[in-house]
Amino acid sequence: MTIVTNTHHLADAGEAVSLTGRNLHLSFGDNHVLRGVDIQVDAGTTTTVIGPSGSGKSTLLRVLNRLHEPQQGDILLNGRSVLKDNPDELRRRIGMVFQQFNLFPHKSVADNVALGPRKLLGLSRDEAREIAVKQLDSVGLAAKADARPSTLSGGQQQRVAIARALAMKPQVMFFDEATSALDPELVKGVLSLMTELSQDGMTMVVVTHEMGYARDVADNVLFMDDGVVVETGSPEQIFSDAKSDRLKSFLSQVL
Ligand code: ADP
Ligand code: MG
Repeated sequence: MTIVTNTHHLADAGEAVSLTGRNLHLSFGDNHVLRGVDIQVDAGTTTTVIGPSGSGKSTLLRVLNRLHEPQQGDILLNGRSVLKDNPDELRRRIGMVFQQFNLFPHKSVADNVALGPRKLLGLSRDEAREIAVKQLDSVGLAAKADARPSTLSGGQQQRVAIARALAMKPQVMFFDEATSALDPELVKGVLSLMTELSQDGMTMVVVTHEMGYARDVADNVLFMDDGVVVETGSPEQIFSDAKSDRLKSFLSQVL
């Protein structure tokens, strides 16, 4: 069953870029959270990031879009370091979807989606509205454009949050446990949307506890523990041929 019925692609795959993190370090006080993390996400591919709670997965995403500045290491888009650029520029190019949807409750669904294009891309009200409605259509929610977020299910709200991120025409999308707060029956709709986006050729980094998704959709899987990448490889290598005891032990707990 296809949950999302739309007439156009979620995102324009023509602009796919690669994302590289090299030897990334970050400490919070004495807590050395990222201890030299390397990540290579080729243009148009999806990397899923798995690992125990507290291993540094969310921090890695926040460093990669410079919500936290790395204390060492480099971040590259299409092979070019972005650390000297304005961080806002990078954040505009990377769409982010979190566990909490954080939609503005007093704005309509369409206004939530149109806000970024209006404020950050400087589009007119009409232009932003047009983009918002198109993007809502692509996630199967055009009919909800004028509804308040609170009248939508959690799964629908998360699809609005995805539409909001896509309305900024990002070159890379990050998902941080985007389905963790959803009721089980709503998870599938959001995962299928993420799968579709991946198939459209978006460059994606997806932190997830959904091991089926991590295995089936990923081009690469990265297993983190205690601030380091313990193993990385194809889904087959990670899920069927784990090398380290730490990964074997993690998989035995989650599979
Ligand atoms: P994960 O997403 O894998 O569960 P996090 O990246 O959220 O792990 O956290 C890794 C470590 O960094 C934890 O010890 C957490 O307490 C710490 N940490 C994360 N964000 C902050 C912050 N803003 N300030 C201080 N410590 C933080
Ligand atoms: Mg996290």
